[in-house]
Amino acid sequence: MTSPDIIIAIDGYSSTGKSSFAKLLAKELDFLYLDSGALYRGVTLFAQEQGYITADNVISPELEQALQTLDLHFSSDNSCFIGERCIEKEIRSMKVSSQVSPIATVPYIRSWVDCLLHRFASCGRVVMDGRDIGTTVFPDAQIKIFMTASEQVRARRRYDELLAKGQNPDLEEVKANLKERDYIDSHRETSPLARAEDSFLLDNSDMTLKEEVEWVKGLIRGRFLLYD
Ligand code: C5P
Repeated sequence: MTSPDIIIAIDGYSSTGKSSFAKLLAKELDFLYLDSGALYRGVTLFAQEQGYITADNVISPELEQALQTLDLHFSSDNSCFIGERCIEKEIRSMKVSSQVSPIATVPYIRSWVDCLLHRFASCGRVVMDGRDIGTTVFPDAQIKIFMTASEQVRARRRYDELLAKGQNPDLEEVKANLKERDYIDSHRETSPLARAEDSFLLDNSDMTLKEEVEWVKGLIRGRFLLYD
């Protein structure tokens, strides 16, 4: 289908399948896909490797200055890079998952990521996923979706994803991490995870990816009166 030039904002809890859904939707609409979580994960990896965060989540104030030199970006196949180095594998590890939410509570880090997102999205025709896209980053997005799924389904999805990546996850650890991140994300002061009032709710516990994409295409057709 041919969609008008719009921004589609997808927010929701951890491991609700936002990225897979957003990626497929972007491909079908010929839109750019932007994974805002990957940028928070990239900042976390950078902070860990450069010693700007301790094991008990104390973040050095020097990180703010260091961010000015951080070249974080995506390749055309949506892989995340620091400079020339692909960091896709590292940013999906439990080590990064365990510190990304504390990192994402820091206001100057959120502003830095928001600037990057606006720069990357300047061409329009974007599907972006995260926690605050429809509420803070692009409050004027024409289509907003808030995703949820049962806790059991979400934990299993993340567990299978880690297994497929050759890691050796522990289901209980995965569950605890999802719970902890959702709690921190929903309770932080700056741009907490919350459902935008004008968003559509998508509970995909019992849906296939294909059904999800058809559902949103229906929304776009209805909103813009498209008949193709
Ligand atoms: O989407 P993903 O699970 O990869 O995001 C990792 C973490 O990044 C989230 O748990 C959240 O703490 C943070 N995040 C955020 N705002 C966004 C996207 C992600 O705070 N827009």
